Parts: sequence; C-alpha cells; structure tokens
Amino acid sequence: MELEMIWENVGFLNTRVKVGIVVGDKKCILIDSGLDSSTGKKILSQLRREDLNVIAIIDTHSHADHYGGTAYIKERTGARVYASALEAAIIENPVLEPIYFAGGAYPPMELRNKFMMGEPCKIDQIVEEGPLEIAYMKVNIVNLPGHSPQQIGVIAENTLFCADSVFPNEVLEKHKILFLHNVKDFRKSLRRILTINCEHFLPSHGELTKKKELEKLVNSNLASTVEVEEKILESLNTSLEMDKLISLVLEKFEMSIESYSDYALFSSTIMAYLNYLKDREEIGFKIERNQPIVYKKI
Ligand SMILES: [Zn+2]
Repeated sequence: MELEMIWENVGFLNTRVKVGIVVGDKKCILIDSGLDSSTGKKILSQLRREDLNVIAIIDTHSHADHYGGTAYIKERTGARVYASALEAAIIENPVLEPIYFAGGAYPPMELRNKFMMGEPCKIDQIVEEGPLEIAYMKVNIVNLPGHSPQQIGVIAENTLFCADSVFPNEVLEKHKILFLHNVKDFRKSLRRILTINCEHFLPSHGELTKKKELEKLVNSNLASTVEVEEKILESLNTSLEMDKLISLVLEKFEMSIESYSDYALFSSTIMAYLNYLKDREEIGFKIERNQPIVYKKI
C-alpha cells in the first residue's frame, strides 16, 4: 500500500477505497479508514514507515468499506474520531445499517456481514459543515448527503476528498444503478462539488481528478440518475405491484441479482427513487390485496 502525496501535506493511501491523509509534524489525520481491521493494520504499518502518528480519523460516512478500519486504528493510536451526527449513530451501532436494509426488522445473518456492518467505534466529536482544526492542521467539512443520509466531504489544502458523492465510470458500468439513499440530495451534492474551488478531487472509488474531468463525471452520474428515473416511469404504463416494478427496473438494466444482500441494496435504491417520485406527486402508492401497488399520476 503506497502513500501517494498530492500536495506537500496532503495525500492518500490506495486501499479498496481511497483513504485521505493530511500530514502535520510527525502526525496525520486520516479521512476514512478502509474496510476492516486488516486494512487498518496495513494503513498503520505504512504510516509507521513514514514516521507518522494518526491523531484523528474523519469518517465520511457509515458504509463499512469506509469506516471498518476506524475501531482498530483508534484502539492502537488513541486517535480521535470525527463524523456527522447521523453517520456517527450508525458507526457506533453498525447493526442499524442492515436493520434499515431489512425494512426495520432485525436482519438475517446474511445481511449482518462485514460489508454491511463494520466494527463499531465510538465517535469523539460530531462535525458539521465548516472549518475544523485538529492540532494545527486545518480542513473544511462539506456536507454531501444523498449517497448516505449525512455524508461529508473534506477539503484539505487544494483537494476535495469527495467520499461517495461521485462515482467513476467503471463503477457506473459495473453497478448500472448507483447506490443512493436520497435522490434529491444526491443530485444536489453532485452539483455542489462542481462549485468547490479545488484543484484536485478524489472520489473514494475513483482516481485523482481535475475540475474538467470532474465535470464529465458529475454529468455522467447525473445522467445515470435520470436514466433510472426514466426506466421507472416507463415501467409504469400500468400500475404494478412494488416487487414486480423493482424486478422490472432491474431487468431493464439487464441486471441479474443473485444474493439477498445485493437485492437489499438495489431495491433500497429503487425505493429511494420511488419515494422521491411520490413526493413530487408523479407516482402514488396504494394497497390492494394486501400488496403495495405503484401507479403513475401524470
Ligand atoms: Zn458509500
């Protein structure tokens, strides 16, 4: 695992997600921590080689691939952990994540896996949008909700660590439907990152990107959300049972889901679109024969 520097005191580590790093005098702040304790261990041994002590971790959001290494690193370094209020609630109580994928019920073991829930970790400080100074190292927190309820991005010097507010084309091609929690917020955050005056942008699952390239990525992410919305509305020429609608939309994207946890992720994203369209009064829900039915209003 190489430490790549972007600027004198700002860089990243290449784990399954990009872990940001802000360097001070023999110390550093991490932005996210990777999937699990074994990633945390690799991060720490790399930082030891660089003679850097982790004094803080800013978790951008409560998806295990981003915060799963936090507990391990905190335990070994005493680092203070920062997150937004809602994401902190899940990082401290990771079972909440599979609970919401199971529609509020206690989730089956299959959903209680390490990709759905990371090691729990106590959050020392709740952060909100604005400047944050940790041991003379200065960063700026930017609210980028949508992909998850209260995701944050972090600006350090001339770089925006975008978290999962924008995805690279490979992820778009692979998943076809980008995982999101709130359509309106996801689009707003995509537009928001374009207004941020940084030289470099680092999407957690992508590469270091300049503004011009970021613009293209933002546009393809936005276009992908429009495509999902269109495919949902196209499917609703007649009213449909909710489960049928979900499977029809997945079919239209030529997706074949094989695991219950993948189904939980994609159906939750499609529900986010349905709830968004319902609030816009483009569709409605009714119950017939004890089943939710979705119908087009316009
Ligand atoms: Zn995520």
